[in-house]
Amino acid sequence: MTEQDLISTVIRPEIRALTAYKVADATGYIKLDAMENPYTWPEAVKAEWLNIIHDAEINRYPDPEAKALCRILKEYNQIPAESEILLGNGSDEIIQLLLMALPANATVMAAEPSFVMYQQVAQCLGLNYQGLPLLADSFDIDLAVTLATIKSQQPEIIFLAYPNNPTGNLFDSDAIEKIIQQSKGLVIIDEAYAPFTDFSFIKQLTRHNNLLVMRTVSKLGLAGLRLGFIAGKASIINELNKARLPYNINILTQCSAEFALSHPDIFAEQTQTICHERARMFLQLSTITGMTPCPSAANFILFRTPKGKATDIFNALKDQGILIKNLSSQQGLLTDCLRVTIGKPEENNAFINALKECI
Ligand SMILES: *Cc1c(COP(=O)(O)O)cnc(C)c1O
Repeated sequence: MTEQDLISTVIRPEIRALTAYKVADATGYIKLDAMENPYTWPEAVKAEWLNIIHDAEINRYPDPEAKALCRILKEYNQIPAESEILLGNGSDEIIQLLLMALPANATVMAAEPSFVMYQQVAQCLGLNYQGLPLLADSFDIDLAVTLATIKSQQPEIIFLAYPNNPTGNLFDSDAIEKIIQQSKGLVIIDEAYAPFTDFSFIKQLTRHNNLLVMRTVSKLGLAGLRLGFIAGKASIINELNKARLPYNINILTQCSAEFALSHPDIFAEQTQTICHERARMFLQLSTITGMTPCPSAANFILFRTPKGKATDIFNALKDQGILIKNLSSQQGLLTDCLRVTIGKPEENNAFINALKECI
């Protein structure tokens, strides 16, 4: 049997048709491509953290339910007492878990453009995926079309990132409310960028049976830990919990996240600086000829470049040592668009100066 024959025997066609999610090698670059918090912790805090890791029982399995961490996450994120949460090895794992629990041939919908993992995982599992095109001018939800699509196709699950990635905007909250009301399936509000906005659907959790809110600590400043959670009605979370692998949150993640979240002031100060820089970057970008930045409630800015120039500008920035994200190849509404993550002030200045050099 040739390798190709072997592969077509043992790998499903929908997986063979996929291309792997590629992450650019950032070695040596100013890294403004992945929505990471650019800051770490003061040395004294790091020393305290090392003491905790020193005492972690690495020979034992971790708490399978991560009870202490769940308590801290619920408090930190002001989750209603009657809601339950489920933890994932990053919110990516929760997306996978949600979709694994669906019936065969289920339909998955997500705004388009949005986070690529919804479609990637849906296709990997052989589910029907249907994009909900956003409005071209505002990147907001096209409510009439969206409600009609939901009515005709009855999706089991709809993902809405709030704020949206890669566009950065917050969808109209009344439109989201109507989608939740009129959908017979689950609606997942993905609040990965919650640290950078005051808007949230967490308070709505108790009002809807089919609403779930997902968050992550990645964009807050703990991307290396791989920890996300989803909150919702206890009955639904309990079902999802059956599909979760028992020790999916390792002991180092559990004790490090518990420690980190007991220092909320550090993160509050860092996210405040990032939001301040976001406003400064938006103004700077809008003064550069040909660049049109989109208003953002997240820690990145999407900007449109002159027609046909996005890849040239992306490469020219790279030649100057700055790595951002080229979205133009995704086409559709993202044609000519680049996305830059908000970094430290000096990194942002380097980006702006390099961009001015490009034109
Ligand atoms: C970054 C991102 C995630 C992934 O978060 P992890 O917890 O790091 O897996 C999920 N949703 C959106 C919208 C994101 O931008």
